Amino acid sequence: MTVTAILSALAEEQQGLLEQLNKPQSVRHGGRDFWLGELNGHRVVLGLSRIGKVAAATTATTLITRLGVNRIVFTGVAGGVGAGVSVGDVVVAAEFVQHDMDASPIFPRFEVPLYGKTCFACDPALTEMLLDASRTALAETEQGQARLHRGLIASGDRFVSAADESRGIQRALREAGLDVLAVEMEGAAVAQVCFDFGVPFAAVRTISDRADDQAHVDFPKFVAEVASGYAQSIMTNLFRLL
Ligand code: SAH
Repeated sequence: MTVTAILSALAEEQQGLLEQLNKPQSVRHGGRDFWLGELNGHRVVLGLSRIGKVAAATTATTLITRLGVNRIVFTGVAGGVGAGVSVGDVVVAAEFVQHDMDASPIFPRFEVPLYGKTCFACDPALTEMLLDASRTALAETEQGQARLHRGLIASGDRFVSAADESRGIQRALREAGLDVLAVEMEGAAVAQVCFDFGVPFAAVRTISDRADDQAHVDFPKFVAEVASGYAQSIMTNLFRLL
């Protein structure tokens, strides 16, 4: 039996999903509340990752080892970094990197020590479905000018809120041969845990800000006004495809 977890970072993003959940039942593990139930006939667990890589890794591990989850989908918001990645656009992750991982000169910058890996890839089939679902959701929500992207997302334990910093992250990753579309604070951790346990993972992030000097204003406004609708609409469409 497939049990799919839908993870969000923020309560605002989870709210719409929670309202749609059939037969909801809450459980608590590791100081976290999870909601078990059904969406469109599928068994699901809704959870908040909490913010940052360590918190998100604990949440993902709990879902897999304690709650029997064998597929994880992340829905959240992120700062746009790549050229042409604007507020309101949707980025589906092809893979993740930790932009603050640096054990150089012992290991190459950005490589996760002992894994021999810099990037953790998302599950191709689930990602394809998430792309389809996001495309449909964007059409339905009449975000006429919003674009859909697929590519690399970088995670780190920083809210990137300065244009200089954002450019610096982009430049450093480019030097390592990596083209980043967006930054956030959890995805790479969940991707690594899913790699460890062999659990398929996919992630979608709506762009709430441009990770620049305006980010601290744009981010809360977007989260309050639109993030929940996006998450709900993309997940509804995904569960029709699964
Ligand atoms: N005090 C805030 C903290 C949010 S941190 C609050 O709780 O409202 C920002 C969250 O959104 C993280 O979960 C991160 O994954 C994502 N995010 C959005 N824009 C980001 C940016 N510019 N840099 C890093 N993370 C960002």
